[in-house]
Amino acid sequence: MNKETPYLQQLTNNILYFPGHANITVLNLGKTSLMIECGRNIVETAEIRKQAENILKNKIKYVAITHFHSDHTHSMPLVEDCQIIASKKSLEFLKAAKRTPVKNSRLIFPNTIFENQFILKEGNFEVIIKKTGGHTADSSYIYSSQHKLLATGDNLRSDFLWGGRGGNPEDWISALKEYVSLDPEYIIIGHGEIMTKDEVSAILSYVLEVNQLLITLSKESLKESEILPKIQEIKPHGKFKVFIHESTVIQWCKYYLKNTQKG
Ligand SMILES: [Zn+2]
Repeated sequence: MNKETPYLQQLTNNILYFPGHANITVLNLGKTSLMIECGRNIVETAEIRKQAENILKNKIKYVAITHFHSDHTHSMPLVEDCQIIASKKSLEFLKAAKRTPVKNSRLIFPNTIFENQFILKEGNFEVIIKKTGGHTADSSYIYSSQHKLLATGDNLRSDFLWGGRGGNPEDWISALKEYVSLDPEYIIIGHGEIMTKDEVSAILSYVLEVNQLLITLSKESLKESEILPKIQEIKPHGKFKVFIHESTVIQWCKYYLKNTQKG
């Protein structure tokens, strides 16, 4: 057996899923394919591309990324020939990151840029790529109603929620609400197992509870160090018990304290 075989899960005739770094997923669009996320590991991504093109018997023409973090974008030189779709914010963050190019390559940036939303039309397929913010200000989701698939990037993980550059709780909550309003059977998250809508609803209800308490406590002039233990008393909901990382609770706390002072 080929050593890369365990990384592939064929979810349907039209969906190939490669659990691992950033959970790369390939959607068959008929005559061409769309790769969601590029991954961190060049060797692994090269193998994934080869396998996907062999199995689906077409070429990957499009690549969509959920956000700029290197575990989702590092292998972009491997898909340089594709239409790499990303938000203007992701492009801005990628440029600002000033990363060292992959060996024997130059820095590659997305070449198909949208402000808030992009609709990819190919044959009978229509895929929505939409920036919501949350984990980072450039966090976007990718949704195909025909594939019944939603890819959320790091707005969802199966261990903890962690916020990076420019992310905020309000955008994050709106994004989670939007995921639940869609109709996906497969929810591909940034890191961890495929989720169901019920699991996302459980995470949302926990996040809402945390958020409500944060708003209340930030109005009581408490310090971050006093707020944190109170927030940690709230137990995560759902089977994965996804909690909000301590550093992100602090980040959200700062966000509300700043807003309270402003108001
Ligand atoms: Zn990330």
